[in-house]
Amino acid sequence: MKNLKLAGPRPDGARSVIEVGGVRIGEGLVVIAGPCSVETEEQTVRTAVAVKAAGAQMLRGGAFKPRTSPYAFQGLGLKGLKILEKARRETGLPIVTEVVDTRDVSWVGEYADVLQIGARNMQNFSLLREVGRSGKPVLLKRGMHSTLEEWLNCAEYIMAEGNGEVLLCERGIRTFEEYTRNTLDLSMVPAVRAESHLPIIVDPSHGTGMLGMIEPMSLAAVAAGADGLEIEVHVDPKSALSDKDQQLTPDAFARLMDKVRRLKAFMADLR
Ligand code: PEP
Ligand code: MN
Repeated sequence: MKNLKLAGPRPDGARSVIEVGGVRIGEGLVVIAGPCSVETEEQTVRTAVAVKAAGAQMLRGGAFKPRTSPYAFQGLGLKGLKILEKARRETGLPIVTEVVDTRDVSWVGEYADVLQIGARNMQNFSLLREVGRSGKPVLLKRGMHSTLEEWLNCAEYIMAEGNGEVLLCERGIRTFEEYTRNTLDLSMVPAVRAESHLPIIVDPSHGTGMLGMIEPMSLAAVAAGADGLEIEVHVDPKSALSDKDQQLTPDAFARLMDKVRRLKAFMADLR
């Protein structure tokens, strides 16, 4: 892809490893797990403790929620970031959290270890430039209507500001299929590995929106060569204020993690 000066493949073919709070992304498999939204301290800390016990290396949780309706729960904002900080203190897990507004980037960066750019903001170029100047690692989700080339150019926007710490996240695209929430495009895993040196993470939660599909699609992502997974987990999914139909219980997540570990061990033998 001709316009990529920074996000495209390196001449020596080396892949980037991005270190966040002692976790190395781009080597082995990194699992980011946690609730869709930060709702209460108890919900977030209990979920964090549970996902850590199951083997997750990073905690996710939204304090700013990009919702389809302006009347739906929008997130706790600063209060949510303080809860995430508490969860990090209790578990040691680095925090991945979304920022939706250029005006918030610098202060959200004081709480976050990784700034997430959501699918709906993938081509918000002023936000991309701002997180590029933040000095924080960025997890850039693929826009639901975006091509690989558009997505990698958005990584380029961040990198052109001097920030090379970008993680790409496939989270499903809109197609004519209505059975699943989105169509999880796992072909992007080898595609990103061919066209970029940046790590590729897969989000099967938003990618399918269906509880029963999260485990099989996680395993498929690992088999395809993903560097990581981002999975929604909630201590009590039916009470969740957002995405209640796609959040795993801690027990289901622990079962998934066990299978992921066994698959990784099997794959090590394949190479
Ligand atoms: C999220 O991960 O919290 C989220 C809103 O996802 P997406 O931007 O992929 O819809
Ligand atoms: Mn969600």
